[in-house]
Amino acid sequence: MSLRRGVVASMVVLCLLAILLTGQEIWTSRVADLHVSSRQTINLAQSLSQQATDSFQTVDGVLQELVDRAEADGTQPRALRHVQRVMSEHVRQLRVLHNLFIVDANGNGLVDAIPGLKHANYRNRPYFIFHRTHPSRSTHIGRTVRSRTDGSWIITVTRRFNHPDGSFAGLAMATISGNYFLHLYERVDIGRSGIITLALADGTVLMRKPFERSSIGKSIAKAPFFRSSQRQLPAGDYENRSVVDGVSRLYAFHRVSQYPLLVVVGVGKDEALAGWRMETIIRLVELAASIFIMVVLGRYLVGQISKRETAEAQLERLVLVDGLTGLGNRHQFDAVLDREWRRAVRAGTPLAFLMIDADKFKDYNDHYGHQAGDNVLKSIAGCIAGALGRPADLAARYGGEEFAVFLPDTDSPGAYRVAEVIRRAVVALNIAHVGSASGIVTVSIGVGRMSPNGSIPASALVKAADAALYEAKDNGRNRTEPAASFVPTLTGVIVPEAV
Ligand code: GH3
Ligand code: MG
Ligand code: MG
Repeated sequence: MSLRRGVVASMVVLCLLAILLTGQEIWTSRVADLHVSSRQTINLAQSLSQQATDSFQTVDGVLQELVDRAEADGTQPRALRHVQRVMSEHVRQLRVLHNLFIVDANGNGLVDAIPGLKHANYRNRPYFIFHRTHPSRSTHIGRTVRSRTDGSWIITVTRRFNHPDGSFAGLAMATISGNYFLHLYERVDIGRSGIITLALADGTVLMRKPFERSSIGKSIAKAPFFRSSQRQLPAGDYENRSVVDGVSRLYAFHRVSQYPLLVVVGVGKDEALAGWRMETIIRLVELAASIFIMVVLGRYLVGQISKRETAEAQLERLVLVDGLTGLGNRHQFDAVLDREWRRAVRAGTPLAFLMIDADKFKDYNDHYGHQAGDNVLKSIAGCIAGALGRPADLAARYGGEEFAVFLPDTDSPGAYRVAEVIRRAVVALNIAHVGSASGIVTVSIGVGRMSPNGSIPASALVKAADAALYEAKDNGRNRTEPAASFVPTLTGVIVPEAV
């Protein structure tokens, strides 16, 4: 039973361990996959930020050149004609450039890179107002607007130029093609739900992949990195669920160091975990398979153990039980005599012993046959078993038609009473036996009883009972005879201790 329990417990522990290990593996690989995706997102944001820096630096260099020329050569038609050729050359060579302009102090467009274009007035444009009212000569980046010339999305980059006295003389303006960034971002693989955003430092969106008209000019100032605690961070990453499309993404932002710009890259968390999900399914299938195998193996083992235990129990019966009568056999008799004797020595308790022998049984066999004799022996065994009340009492077939009964912790009168119950029960069977004096099957019983101590061998008890049995035979059979040491009286039994 305990071995079976042990196997079941081991299987349960193994299954739990497998579940635990798989769970831990799944969690670890999820964390690892998210980490790798985050890293990639951070690196991509960093590269795109560098790319934005390079593009704006190039444009800024051109603007600086225009400012220098305007301040050195003035804005007279002759000078402007020369500048115009330079501008055309830049626009032709730099894909990032959409157009270039020189605007005077009143907001009038003086010249641009495309000859023959009708010049507008920029007086009311935010960047014009900014430069007119701010002495700073640094670059100003405006929002993404629609070009008046061809309707495309453009980003304005402007620088102020001054009169020799430092007063406002006008501005040089470059318009950057929004498509330039869009095409660049289109080539970057960030999955189906990925996004790339180029924004002003205040969160105004300049360009975004995937391109949506409505998102241009929108503010992303609610993103975590606009919080005061993160405003100083040059770069970082975070996880967020988009309020626009409900998609959970791993985001990374990177601020452009020289210009008030930033790049945000986001990859869909679902897509980032696609590989992990596949792996998890495989792991779970493997786990289910191993649990299945363990359960099957466990059931098989438990079945085998049960079979073995049944076989062992059968074997034990065969070894210890008498085949004919179902009582203990001689082997069990020897084992129990030894065990009970030692127990009685240890506990200081008495041990009673009955030796029972069928009377004139040879004659019975001769007259009725062995088969009938065997049946009688079975019936006598039934009488013996029926007379024993205590769990510790044990009956065994001593040999042939002789039986032995152990009565641990039993005094002499008690043992005599049990013997008499057996003898009377056999008489009550009333089995005809022509060879016997009484005409029926009877037994004679010798009663031995001792308080064992270490100096007397167990065989002394058997000898005493055997001697009493002979006495019973001598005294006419069908009777119970106590060992010489005690004598039955009319009222009961008086038992002297010494044997
Ligand atoms: P007593 O009253 O003196 O005991 O006479 P008895 O004939 O029983 O004497 P004894 O003990 O010498 O004979 C034992 C006989 O019991 C011998 C045999 O015929 C019979 N016997 C022994 N074992 C078996 C058995 O397993 N089956 C059967 N049917 N008879 C057995
Ligand atoms: Mg005999
Ligand atoms: Mg006999």
